[in-house]
Amino acid sequence: MTAPITQDVLTLPRNLPETGKRNLVGLTREGLREALLEIGTPEKQAKMRTGQIWQWIYQWGVRDFAAMTNLAKAYRAELEAHFSIELPEVVTKTVSADGTRKYLVRIAGGHEVEVVYIPETDRGTLCISSQVGCTLTCSFCHTGTQKLVRNLTAGEIIGQVMLARDDLGEWPEQGAPKNETRLLSNIVLMGMGEPLHNFENVRDAMKIAMDPEGIQLSRRRITLSTSGVVPEIARTAEEIGCLLAVSFHATTDEVRDRLVPINKRWNIETLLGALRDYPRVANSERITFEYVMLKGVNDSDADARRLVKLIQGIPAKINLIPFNEWPGSPYERSDWARIEKFADIVHKAGYASPIRTPRGEDIMAACGQLKSATERARKSRKDIAAEAGLG
Ligand code: SAH
Ligand code: SF4
Repeated sequence: MTAPITQDVLTLPRNLPETGKRNLVGLTREGLREALLEIGTPEKQAKMRTGQIWQWIYQWGVRDFAAMTNLAKAYRAELEAHFSIELPEVVTKTVSADGTRKYLVRIAGGHEVEVVYIPETDRGTLCISSQVGCTLTCSFCHTGTQKLVRNLTAGEIIGQVMLARDDLGEWPEQGAPKNETRLLSNIVLMGMGEPLHNFENVRDAMKIAMDPEGIQLSRRRITLSTSGVVPEIARTAEEIGCLLAVSFHATTDEVRDRLVPINKRWNIETLLGALRDYPRVANSERITFEYVMLKGVNDSDADARRLVKLIQGIPAKINLIPFNEWPGSPYERSDWARIEKFADIVHKAGYASPIRTPRGEDIMAACGQLKSATERARKSRKDIAAEAGLG
């Protein structure tokens, strides 16, 4: 498919075992305040303690209450007795020939999700997951063939960002000058799952990512990708305010019904209506239209022309995604010349039309390929069991 595979699979040390204590990671500020009140923190101190603990966890990356030196020793012991600061467990880390890192992460219940870090010259983007699997069944997407197991909690979503910062060694030293060039500078909600089917948890996690006393990512550096869950789009503008990407992928309802079946519920016209209001409400810039290039399905000149006509009046950028194949996928990637011609028509109509270079293909980390590695890992475990006479 691409460059030679130089796989580097390592098993990282396990996180702490599950303690049974309440995990503070993923609580909103209000939730953290309430948790502190519940263990007897005086009402008058609660706000200040919330701020202090918040900074330890999200600004400095501290995982140990004993290290929270601006809190009284007895109070630290009290926190330790009731709470934990836990992240999902990194099972394996795989590094692609192009530097892309893929983390296989285990969450409570033994489910697994994948998190992908994509380094670029001017930025580093972390692609995070919002669900295990997806209930939607887009016909070109590998994740869509996996049965939904469950929604991730807010802690499991922000935990993906935190574990990547751990791996990148990117928690600031106290007193060090502010680091303006971050390795992890952007987040895209483009991993497994439909983020708008898990709205509250995604919102709470992104609020933590944006909090000025913590990870401090600007809302303009977070992009949420949706297949088009129309009723939640306005809420995203109001309650998160991040950038929006939409998996558009077709220019007629007939084709979009086949590719993105949620189109049968909210068709192209309804979706475009919701998108027209988004930039104003979210005070955000352009909407990204994601368009996967499928040979002979949605990649004609007529499609390109229809596309620019449809989105007229919406501040937009068209992100063309060469289809990433997966075992048994029913489509083929459009030829390169075809993708370029399509991009050219869109570009001449006045829209930026970057072609997304597939990253991390050799480790199945590219868009829509997430799932396979997990499945393969599962299969090999099964094989092992069979060989051991257990299967
Ligand atoms: N569920 C959300 C976000 C996750 S998918 C959504 O659908 O928007 C992230 C992007 O990858 C989407 O635009 C999706 O359509 C695209 N994608 C899925 N499978 C793909 C594949 N096999 N090749 C290329 N892009 C794919
Ligand atoms: Fe789910 Fe997005 Fe894949 Fe569609 S493209 S099945 S919404 S993850």
